[in-house]
Amino acid sequence: MAEKLVVIGGNAGGMSAASQARKRRGRDDLEIVVFERGHFTSYSSCGIPYWVGDVVDGPDELVTRRPEVFRAEYAMDVRLRHEVTAVDLGARRVTARDVDTGEVTHEPFDQLVYAPGASPIRPDWAVGDLAGVFGQQTLDDGADLRDWLAGEPAPRTAVVVGGGYIGVEMAEALVRRDLQVTMVEKLPQPMSTVDPDMGALVREAMCGMGIDVRTGVAVEALAGKHGRVSAVVTDAGRLPADVVILGLGVRANSALARAAGIPVGPTGGVVTDRRMRAGDGVWAAGDCVETLNRVSGRPVYVPLGTHANKQGRVAGINIGGGYATFPGVVGTAVTKVCDLEVGRTGLLERDAEAAGFDFVTATVRSTNRAGYFPGAAGMTVKMIAERRTGRLLGAQVVGRAEAAKRIDALAIALWNEMTVEEMSGLDLGYAPPYAPVWDPVLIAARKTADAVQR
Ligand SMILES: Cc1cc2nc3c(=O)[nH]c(=O)nc-3n(C[C@H](O)[C@H](O)[C@H](O)COP(=O)(O)OP(=O)(O)OC[C@H]3O[C@@H](n4cnc5c(N)ncnc54)[C@H](O)[C@@H]3O)c2cc1C
Repeated sequence: MAEKLVVIGGNAGGMSAASQARKRRGRDDLEIVVFERGHFTSYSSCGIPYWVGDVVDGPDELVTRRPEVFRAEYAMDVRLRHEVTAVDLGARRVTARDVDTGEVTHEPFDQLVYAPGASPIRPDWAVGDLAGVFGQQTLDDGADLRDWLAGEPAPRTAVVVGGGYIGVEMAEALVRRDLQVTMVEKLPQPMSTVDPDMGALVREAMCGMGIDVRTGVAVEALAGKHGRVSAVVTDAGRLPADVVILGLGVRANSALARAAGIPVGPTGGVVTDRRMRAGDGVWAAGDCVETLNRVSGRPVYVPLGTHANKQGRVAGINIGGGYATFPGVVGTAVTKVCDLEVGRTGLLERDAEAAGFDFVTATVRSTNRAGYFPGAAGMTVKMIAERRTGRLLGAQVVGRAEAAKRIDALAIALWNEMTVEEMSGLDLGYAPPYAPVWDPVLIAARKTADAVQR
């Protein structure tokens, strides 16, 4: 008799796992049932800000594989609009509720993939019935926001609360929709995924786009009129808001796992081994899990699509009878605001401190191309290295064209535990349209190596 695999969550983590398992095991060997709460499978949440900002079309364009394709070509029983409400490891079954009809069903499993992702953080002041307050995680969230922006009365003012990368991307999207946008951030600078000195450059770019950036400001409440949000009340005054975006980060959807006795770590993410196994016949992947930071050696929560896809693939290969492991992360991420690109990898200064490293930093300002070449623009590179050994611990790059992807070279150096001295001699590509003769990465490595030797 075929084994049954039940998958909770129909996006990156869940469907990567299901697809890999199917590739290795035919329908007679493995029955696959997928529960997805929303309307879509295998979609790009990463594309939501660009869809909201009318840079790309959607939602169909953001869907990699539709449920009909999974049903017809992958022989999966995909149940949309079905929310799993409980996992019973003893009885080896899940309980699911049809979101539209309320009907409750039970589904037995031999293998379980737990991949319900994460939810935007919603502080007490954001809990209530006011319409016009949005977190962004799923394609359905993006669709709801677009409906609101297109509705009547047309929203004219927006407040984005929280200056993480999703907040920054959404603020830009709303500017593109001609809204008057204010960002409120408790910290001294937006983009807390880079050090504050680099965040200051992001702030400059945001202000340049006409975004009113208020830092060091805390939100206390929301105000509304006729059931719609109308203002955000902060400790520094009241800001008009026809729409509010919560950009305060996300929390792993690990409550079901915790209730079922699946281990949840201090970061709030499900704990897995290297093969993405969270228990006997239980696998987990994506925004619901914690992972290993290869630089600090600590468990971290890094909810990114790039990891969710890889982790799901690893789980699926193992379910399919193969062998695969997820090696952990070094903390690489890129984004942009207007034409300013931002990349980071490894530890920030505060992470290096928390991990107990004694470190040095160096920051260089150079250009993305030869200074005389058309389109040459400024680029700032910051590096953090261990003082005793000179090992690279982290790097950040902020600048115009081709800044963000320079972080990949730095990520590879970090992954391979190179020292900044070694990096300063790296054989990187040079031609005037792509770099100055001394690439900013090489200059930064050299300067950091000097700081190590001092
Ligand atoms: C606006 C935005 C921009 C982003 N940009 C980037 C980027 O540029 N680069 C990057 O690497 N990452 C980015 N990410 C993060 C990336 O989208 C996520 O890391 C990725 O989607 C995680 O995949 P997942 O499958 O683990 O979780 P999700 O994408 O959250 O999918 C989980 C699915 O499970 C469903 N679900 C939840 N609970 C249940 C339940 N109880 N029963 C049934 N179904 C359930 C949900 O409806 C959802 O469809 C971005 C995210 C957002 C929101």
